[in-house]
Amino acid sequence: MTGKGHKYIFVLGGVMSGVGKGVVTSSIGLLLQQKGYPVNLVKVDPYLNVDAGTMNPTEHGETFVLKSGLETDQDMGNYERFLGRDLTSDDYMTSGMVYQSVIAQERALGYGGKCVEAIPHVRDEIMRRIRQAAEVSGSQISVIEIGGTIGDFQNALFIDAARELKMRQPDDVTFVMVSYLPVPSTIGEMKTRPTQHAVRELNSYGVQADFIIARAPQPIDDKRKEKIAIACNVHKERVISAPDIKSIYEAPLNFEKDKLSDALLDALHLPDKRKASLAAWKKFVTAATDGSAPELKIAVVGKYFDTGDFVLSDAYLSVIEAIKFSAAKIGQRAKITWINSKEFDKEGANVGKILPGFDGIIVPGGFGETGIEGKIRAIRFAREKKIPYFGLCYGMQLMVIEYARNVLGLKEATTTEIKKNATEPVVDVMPEQKDLITNQKYGGTMRLGAYPARIKKGTIARSAYKSETVEERHRHRYEINPEYVERLEKEGLVFSGTSPDGVLMEIAELPKEVHPFMLGTQFHPELQARPLSPHPLFTEFLKAAVTRRDKKA
Ligand code: GLN
Repeated sequence: MTGKGHKYIFVLGGVMSGVGKGVVTSSIGLLLQQKGYPVNLVKVDPYLNVDAGTMNPTEHGETFVLKSGLETDQDMGNYERFLGRDLTSDDYMTSGMVYQSVIAQERALGYGGKCVEAIPHVRDEIMRRIRQAAEVSGSQISVIEIGGTIGDFQNALFIDAARELKMRQPDDVTFVMVSYLPVPSTIGEMKTRPTQHAVRELNSYGVQADFIIARAPQPIDDKRKEKIAIACNVHKERVISAPDIKSIYEAPLNFEKDKLSDALLDALHLPDKRKASLAAWKKFVTAATDGSAPELKIAVVGKYFDTGDFVLSDAYLSVIEAIKFSAAKIGQRAKITWINSKEFDKEGANVGKILPGFDGIIVPGGFGETGIEGKIRAIRFAREKKIPYFGLCYGMQLMVIEYARNVLGLKEATTTEIKKNATEPVVDVMPEQKDLITNQKYGGTMRLGAYPARIKKGTIARSAYKSETVEERHRHRYEINPEYVERLEKEGLVFSGTSPDGVLMEIAELPKEVHPFMLGTQFHPELQARPLSPHPLFTEFLKAAVTRRDKKA
């Protein structure tokens, strides 16, 4: 039911970007779900890319792949992790998607000869998508995060769609503005003025904020709550404190201190169905933030780090989270060190100087040539020195290449991703991908989304999963070349997971007697790791890391 009575919460950002609209949206989702309401979360990205698959991870962060295969923004990952369930393609939209369908409809004479305009046609398409997302998920409340900041040119149509909805269903719509209250070091006092300006700016769209989430370095005091309430036309109990926290997973617990979920239900004219039980969540947060848990040193050897003078790990967000969940589960505290594989690329690079200090090494997903030789060096070191190794996608392909080169003696072994006419194409492009590459059809054309895999008995993968079939999410164009599988297996590599027809290699590993944990997956297990259900392969990898650390000690 998405007519009258279906509820909508719009989350908007004021003052500046990067203050955690995604975490607010996710937290609201979790809290209302705990209150017994079916919720769906929608991310609106105002850029013109049709999906997030073509964007550079250093610029935009990780591309999060949904079960359906849609390539989306990393916020979708947070939504899934907080809600503890899969989201659908309907829960994500970009301006590019919206315009693409309007234009396709126009080309098909779908507007009956009318002049097609941003308002109302694009705005109507936005609303159609929001309604469809609610319908597909069967939710009662939709929480919609509008990307960007209030005042941006790009997101104005989305805000206008929300305004219109509020006008039509005043009791069913509420607006949450996530703001920032700076504490300038020279003044030493929390300033509310930028928030007041942002609320005014939102007013100029015909929208009044009903809630203000006050992000700040510290909790907001009563005096400032009052000031914001009066100046911004918001009830005082709807000004919610959001101080900096150690872990984003604390956010919903903090919001509950200010009774956010009760206030939201009140604003939406919904009864409080039951007390939110956050016991399991709290237990996880306590374990994840336990500073006294023993430290595990994990190296992530990747390449999407540098942006100007800053090192950003956003490109590997799901990997970091997956490590945290499994660490919390086994009572450990993971300390992640980022190693730029370009450093290891140089001839004669001494991986042996840096890597022995780690309890486990991960090579995550990636594309292209840079950093490849460095990663292969790191993998060889992990294999020979028996350091637990976990390869994700490219990390698995390179693990197999390393094995082919140094165990099978195929010195030219490589992937055709970096050498088109390779003489030993151990990793090769999938046949159906060849034409796509030739015709430069890159957007949304990889092997994407969830596929089943069969797991071999008596392997590390099987003992971790405890199941014969699993389903995991993919994002790749290249595969282990079937022509090399027999030779690799003869020399000791085990393909412990394959596609159900046995053609595609999904997991490669070394037997436990040979190496404590040397395993790579063609898929991205990190995309399905959740706080309350950590991924078994990450957990198994970390357990091996604990054993190594404790043996050293
Ligand atoms: N570049 C590799 C491929 O396309 C691996 C992709 C990845 O790591 N996500 O197959």
